Amino acid sequence: MNDVIIKALAFNKSVRVYAVSNTNILNDIGKRLGYYPSALDAMGRVLSMGAMMGSMLKLEETITIKIEGNGPIGKIIVDSDAHGHIRGYCDNPHCHFEYHDFRLNAKQTVGTSGFISVIKDLKLKEPFIGSTPIISGEIAEDFAYYFQVSEQIPSAVGLGVLVDTDNTAKASGGFIIQLMPDTSEEVIDKLEKKLKLIPSVSEMLSSGYTPVDMIYNIVEDVEILEEIPLEFYCNCSKERFARGILSLGANEIKEMIDEDKTQETTCHFCGNKYYFTKEDLEEIYKLAKEKECKTC
Ligand code: ZN
Repeated sequence: MNDVIIKALAFNKSVRVYAVSNTNILNDIGKRLGYYPSALDAMGRVLSMGAMMGSMLKLEETITIKIEGNGPIGKIIVDSDAHGHIRGYCDNPHCHFEYHDFRLNAKQTVGTSGFISVIKDLKLKEPFIGSTPIISGEIAEDFAYYFQVSEQIPSAVGLGVLVDTDNTAKASGGFIIQLMPDTSEEVIDKLEKKLKLIPSVSEMLSSGYTPVDMIYNIVEDVEILEEIPLEFYCNCSKERFARGILSLGANEIKEMIDEDKTQETTCHFCGNKYYFTKEDLEEIYKLAKEKECKTC
């Protein structure tokens, strides 16, 4: 199944629906950085959220989702945009808990207290930042709460990841359903009843449901608006890392040069490695000196 985000309207255009499948990207990230099953499960859920929330943006806008729970996975960050570009990072991809019921994993991995933050760069002066406490650790409930409290949009969120015995994901995906200000009580009633009856996202995924199948299974009068292919995209570069080194300041860079070692940096999103030779570092040192002279 291809990685894709589907945007749709339902119930006579009075409800917005998003659905996503991101199995391939999740496996790509998992392989690059050696994710264990529980970490893969949590990352899959956050990637699904990032992809769908990215698709709510316009043109050059971007979004960063940050989950900072008290679980062993540490911080989880997903960057996305309106064009289906996405990347994800977590502090500790090597965490795993054995459970008979895999759905328990996210809670244990992410933690049950902490914060989720949403940073939207809407190309205005200041970014939009919304933050709410983690109320469950299962991610889906946490984002339903976020939408309600931070963006005042009543939403239902479903997320699921199926992890295979070889530590890869068999399937990963989810959906978001959002009410509009004019959604009628009758539709809300219908939707609430339907949401209680439908199988979990994990069950739908294991039955081979595509995102479009999921949408048709949950809502009525479906009008598919857009299908956005999802792809892993990391904008890291040697220049970006050089700027990172520059920000350490002249003294620290001098120390690195004196140690006379080639500096190796690894991008935590994609695993790419960048090397800085003594000559590279001397050049950055020069820039750092110039910068410090200007500020003093
Ligand atoms: Zn990268």
